Amino acid sequence: EHLANQIAAGEVVERPASVLKELIENAVDAGSTRVDVSAEEGGLNLLRVADDGSGIQPDDMLLAFQRHATSKISSGKDLFQIATLGFRGEALPSIAAVAKVKCVSATDDSGLGRLLEIEGGNMLANRDTNAPKGTEMVVKDLFYNTPARLKYMKTIQTELGHLSDVVYRQALARPDIAFTFSHNGNLLLRTPGNGDLRQVVAAIYGTASAKAMIAVNEESPDYTLIGLTAMPTETRANRNAVTVLVNGRYVRSQAVAQPLLQAYHTLLPLHRYPLTVLDLKMHPTLVDVNVHPAKLEVRFSKENELRAFVESAIKKALSTEAYIPS
Ligand code: ADP
Ligand code: MG
Repeated sequence: EHLANQIAAGEVVERPASVLKELIENAVDAGSTRVDVSAEEGGLNLLRVADDGSGIQPDDMLLAFQRHATSKISSGKDLFQIATLGFRGEALPSIAAVAKVKCVSATDDSGLGRLLEIEGGNMLANRDTNAPKGTEMVVKDLFYNTPARLKYMKTIQTELGHLSDVVYRQALARPDIAFTFSHNGNLLLRTPGNGDLRQVVAAIYGTASAKAMIAVNEESPDYTLIGLTAMPTETRANRNAVTVLVNGRYVRSQAVAQPLLQAYHTLLPLHRYPLTVLDLKMHPTLVDVNVHPAKLEVRFSKENELRAFVESAIKKALSTEAYIPS
């Protein structure tokens, strides 16, 4: 069990940002309206995620730190219809194997909750405590017991960059959730949580960029594509400018990014990318998200149809703004 956790940890817990991704996904899965994230020293000293979601039942808390104890899959069939972000039940045990973890959680407003402390997979405390509704996860001294892994960490600034990417993507994916993010006590991001994607873009990329974006809103029998994409005059040098979500989950997908760029075709200078946030919604049976442990890769069952849909949706959005004659 211990060894299995350490092995799994190698897959799930590559660096502070991968821990943060799992913690935020859990907060989102718990139906939170508010997620507060803080980090110290690029997340290597401390990562903290506090939410106001469903909380964890006192008797389930220890279970949550055991392998494959996910509450999110109840039958084999569910594997093909995954609506939540996490579904393997591997994240928490993996994290607890390579760090000092404190979890405080309550499932209601009674003020009573449970506190659990685990260090390198060993339970230190499991007792009742005062807690507001929701969950607070604190991960300290990441990789303190795996020095080989610690050696691979880059500078604080690099790790912070990865942490920011994770928070930005989750914030872009869920404009209905109010996110804050601070590092070493400095507030780096605050989103309003009112459902307005343009305001999230403004908080991350600046008001000017947010204003210069075109709404995308397209529906077919199989797909819905909603989001914002930049006017061709507003481009970036980095392909990270393109954020693609599938059913609210951040993915890396050429099947969406390529037709997007194709729609801009002659409008984009070489090696420039339009700042874009697109959420592609479809029935979960049309997409396989269970391809990669980090869950970034997806496979679509009707890829050609999808590509055509994305290209025409973007062309239509651009033509509304008269960039492409319709
Ligand atoms: P998974 O997300 O794949 O189910 P995790 O290891 O990430 O597995 O989490 C294990 C379980 O702990 C979850 O299924 C959930 O029941 C519970 N849990 C973890 N974080 C939270 C949270 N922030 N709020 C409520 N429940 C949580
Ligand atoms: Mg999870």
